[in-house]
Amino acid sequence: MFDVVIIGAGISGAVLAERFAQDSNKKVLLIERRQHIGGNCYDKIDENGILIHKYGPHLFHTDDAEIFDYLSKFTEWQTYQHKVLAMIDGQAAPIPFNFNTLYKVFPKNLAERLEVALLQNFEYGKKIPILELKNSPSADLQFLADFVYEKIFLHYTEKQWNLTPDKIDGAVTARVPVSISRDDRYFNDKFQAVPKFGYTAMFQKMLAHKNIKLMLNTAFNEVATLRDGKIFLFDAEFNGKVIYTGLLDELFNYKFGALEYRSVDMKFETVDAENFQAAATVNYPNNYNFTRITEFKKIHPAKSARTTILKEFPQNYIVGENVPYYPVFTDAAKEAHAKYFDELKNFPQIKAVGRLAEYKYFDIDDAVKRAFEVYAELKN
Ligand code: UDP
Repeated sequence: MFDVVIIGAGISGAVLAERFAQDSNKKVLLIERRQHIGGNCYDKIDENGILIHKYGPHLFHTDDAEIFDYLSKFTEWQTYQHKVLAMIDGQAAPIPFNFNTLYKVFPKNLAERLEVALLQNFEYGKKIPILELKNSPSADLQFLADFVYEKIFLHYTEKQWNLTPDKIDGAVTARVPVSISRDDRYFNDKFQAVPKFGYTAMFQKMLAHKNIKLMLNTAFNEVATLRDGKIFLFDAEFNGKVIYTGLLDELFNYKFGALEYRSVDMKFETVDAENFQAAATVNYPNNYNFTRITEFKKIHPAKSARTTILKEFPQNYIVGENVPYYPVFTDAAKEAHAKYFDELKNFPQIKAVGRLAEYKYFDIDDAVKRAFEVYAELKN
């Protein structure tokens, strides 16, 4: 009856379902445990008439025209370039840390001196990961690096990961480098936008195909079992392809223990004022138990006398209790995942894809790109 079974209707699952259904004319069964599609990109209009991202702010950005063109088949866009401020010593200053931030947080004379030191050591336009800047030989840059590390990265990262920046993969903090420029934007990609009517609407269009059968509110183990290297779907042996985008430890009944993820308690609030803050997102590296506040009106403009904000409180992930948002980027956690990945060799029909299953820090475009790669690999 079905050629392909896909578990999870997030980015990876939705893109692969669409590709198999539309491009290969295959019959796809798409199973989703939640009551909605779109994975953590899921958004909806809230009681204030504002489009909110239920699982935290998702801002699409890519340099890859193929990905932008592909998604453009399913949505119109609203151009949007994300800007973030961080509260540093009581000042709201732009991050990534750049020359504008320098002049915001330091007296003019000192800012000028540090700007000169940066330009003597780095080419204009370059982006320097904080852990690299910390190795700088110049005393002025050493001072600057220590300041940026302490005021922007250290305490934020401790809240977010329960680890200091040196204990996690440098790629994590390198996502927000020090920028040798006056560019205040959080991303510099060629294409930056949000779907005009939201991500959920975009995924709905992607999945509206006669070859795709979607089952919401359905966990994988309600319809399938794994036994002796085989897969049984509705109690009959299934010989097609299985694309699994969920948690690998769960798939294998936690036989090697639970994988580590970080979770976030997303607390939405209605503020009885038209505007709340000066940018869509304001980070609070050094105060409070939340990492940042996002005001959704500033991403998706809406006419409302009120405004909806989101405070993100990082937490440990506990199986069955909260949402596994971020794979943990320590060597030990990656090794634990690799054991589960090896276990997949006993089930050659199954392909693990995406942020959760592959244990990767994927942005939206990375997830789409990975789904394209897997489709190219599996379609024949
Ligand atoms: N980060 C930080 N301070 C900030 C912003 C980011 O220390 O003000 C670090 C932190 O470790 C965070 C990582 O950089 O987890 C990546 O930040 P990004 O904003 O890309 O995280 P996401 O939006 O994916 O949660």
